[in-house]
Amino acid sequence: MTGPGKVVAGNWKMNHGPREARAFPSQLRIPDGSSAEILLFPPAISLVGLREELERAGLADRIEVGVQNVHFEDSGAYTGETSVSMAAEVGASHVLVGHSERRHIFGETDAETAKKVGAVLRGGLAPVLCVGEDLDEREAGRVEEVILRQLETVLASEAIRASLGAGARFLLAYEPVWAIGTGRTATPQDASAAHAVLRSHLVERLGSRGPQIPILYGGSVNPDNAGDLMSAAEVDGVLVGGASLDAGDFSRIIGAA
Ligand code: PEP
Repeated sequence: MTGPGKVVAGNWKMNHGPREARAFPSQLRIPDGSSAEILLFPPAISLVGLREELERAGLADRIEVGVQNVHFEDSGAYTGETSVSMAAEVGASHVLVGHSERRHIFGETDAETAKKVGAVLRGGLAPVLCVGEDLDEREAGRVEEVILRQLETVLASEAIRASLGAGARFLLAYEPVWAIGTGRTATPQDASAAHAVLRSHLVERLGSRGPQIPILYGGSVNPDNAGDLMSAAEVDGVLVGGASLDAGDFSRIIGAA
């Protein structure tokens, strides 16, 4: 990818309620001169508090915030859901779509993922589409087939391709399911190989826009392995779960970018 700096994104999952989210910004230490593009995905209910404290800490221009999920409809009888326009109204710039926990715990399908990416783009926010194989699929040699299917379900939409062709922001995250929250990380070589497969499909479908889409690696990234992973070919940044909950660890990962 051609771009300013590596992307360092933190997914808090269902951790850090409003009180803990508010305490986070004052504990962050972003190294002077860091060119990292920093994103935080708190629980939706903690987003306003986090943003207010980022502003108070003078970090609101430095760190963007997003939500971990949205519904593809804009409003209606969908108890428990959040729409793209609601997320935008409280200052979200990005939306995680198709995280493996959404796919595997909540049964989200490829088709729903594609609808969500379309809704996020229509709402003017940036989707971060997560793809990745589980252990059985990896051991069966099906990595390429699975991640390309997950990506192509989204790129098959002409409206989505048109929006990306017109320059809408979109990020991809390769997150092997067997590496998420397990302490088992893909090697930089494994990550590069999967990213190269995704990259060539992006180029095939989006032409000159393809090389500009950042592809992040996610799966047990921590302060000790982040530098090696971000130095690997085709790795444009990291999506960090557990290690993003501690402001000190997250700061060290930013420092490795
Ligand atoms: C994630 O939640 O996207 C993730 C990669 O989690 P972890 O870093 O904890 O494996």
